[in-house]
Amino acid sequence: MPRQRIRLAIIGGSQAYTLLQSKALSGKRLGPVSTPYGPSQPLYEIPISRRRILFLSRHGEKRYEVTAPFVNYRANIYALKEHGATHIVAWTGPGAINPAFTPGSFAVMTDMIDETRRRPSTFFENSGFGFIRMGDVFCPNLRSLLVRVLRRLRYEFCDHATYVCTEGPRLETPAEIRMYAKLGADLVGMTLAPEAFLARELEMCYAALAYVTNFAEGVKQRRFRNGELFEGLATSTEKQRVGQAVKRFPSIIGALAQQLDRATQEVSRARKPLPPGCHCQRAMERYRKQGLLSEDWHEWLSR
Ligand SMILES: [Zn+2]
Repeated sequence: MPRQRIRLAIIGGSQAYTLLQSKALSGKRLGPVSTPYGPSQPLYEIPISRRRILFLSRHGEKRYEVTAPFVNYRANIYALKEHGATHIVAWTGPGAINPAFTPGSFAVMTDMIDETRRRPSTFFENSGFGFIRMGDVFCPNLRSLLVRVLRRLRYEFCDHATYVCTEGPRLETPAEIRMYAKLGADLVGMTLAPEAFLARELEMCYAALAYVTNFAEGVKQRRFRNGELFEGLATSTEKQRVGQAVKRFPSIIGALAQQLDRATQEVSRARKPLPPGCHCQRAMERYRKQGLLSEDWHEWLSR
């Protein structure tokens, strides 16, 4: 059996640009990709562990250039697919609704509530496609690899979390946070929807790793401080811990690439298709079986 081609892509969240600017992550700049939805954020190809990993900074290349509601999610996901990405790990810096999640610690996302309101959320506008199951919002295989990596690196993390995605760019009100807590959300952020759903529509495995940046509004009593990031929601100690967490991303990405290599070899030896146990890469199978969609995903979008 030929070894299945795997290409890992990383979507960097808030502060990803600091890793590019400091050269903590460096490689070949491929530049923005022209897509039917407009240009993507610039892509990089970063050599790690015998692989060339695709990297994209969601909020901008040099600084925080675009807030979450105005990120061109369709262009970014299209661009990664165009460059052959099969697996995407997104990172994001949410606030904690559940106080068991502390700033500076990591969490591997398991489920999501989508509270966004004004974002294009599908590649299949005005068509009969996209009615697909979301039992596993995040790829279970990629999730378990992330858990394995964080365990080996001995970083503080939680292996499950429900994320609620709000529209932004403003932060949430205290009443909204109380409501999301009642709905079962652990973390709140603004970026994983529709990104995760778009990746599934193009049949890519997608998992999300959070580094908790602050406690959400009203979870802890914090005085307002003008002129600072989070305006008092995060203490200076918490900000330091968060800074350390961001610096750990290159080590996480490197270890993840190695784990993906190992998993690929194990599956290849067992002569099983990769990835076993996940349905991400066959999400549109029903439409293919009916002869409604071809093997070329570009054709899916032009209807
Ligand atoms: Zn998958």
